Amino acid sequence: MSLFLDIHTHKASRNDEVEAIQSLSLTEGLFLAMPKTKPISIGIHPWYGKLDELAKNMKYLNVLARQANVKMIGECGLDKLRGEPIGHQVQMLEAQVLLAEQLQKPLILHCVKAFDELIALKKRLGAKVPMILHGFNKKHEMAQQLMAQGFCLSFGAAVLKSDEMARVLKEINRPFFLETDDSNVDIVEIYERVAEIKKISVDELKDVIFANWKQLVF
Ligand SMILES: [Zn+2]
Repeated sequence: MSLFLDIHTHKASRNDEVEAIQSLSLTEGLFLAMPKTKPISIGIHPWYGKLDELAKNMKYLNVLARQANVKMIGECGLDKLRGEPIGHQVQMLEAQVLLAEQLQKPLILHCVKAFDELIALKKRLGAKVPMILHGFNKKHEMAQQLMAQGFCLSFGAAVLKSDEMARVLKEINRPFFLETDDSNVDIVEIYERVAEIKKISVDELKDVIFANWKQLVF
């Protein structure tokens, strides 16, 4: 029986039926305390990243990200409502995209009100590594636009409330993922809702998501 995959959470999982990828921000003084075996992602979160610490943090990230249990780089990304000016955030993200390309590990991305900048950055760098946009909660036109640019989408608690998310999930045509992020919602509840939307069983959905994941991780 497949596990539930929670592709992006900030909490440590205590459920044996859930494979959770815990997301850690490099700026949390993580260097010595980083878990060595359980699956994680690490990166410089746009809320906390500082451009004048970028060189130092990239040195650490360059070492840590090579560990086998680091499945993705991130979360990293762009946020026009928090953190340093967008130009600084673009530079910090660029450094992490280049590292992900070098290590051939997918990116888990945070994006608030900066989709144009994100798309432009992907094009400019010619990045080929999978880019998963986490916590997708926008209109279906935006989902279409992002998928057309090669992004994968991950969905969290918003699927429980939003009819728009049901529409997006019905139209989805690229590998997608499910997550709890920092919410208290159970990943099982999110799977149940998405299975209902897609008119398949929860077990079938688990297989779909794991196949999506295998497609991305090389
Ligand atoms: Zn997050």
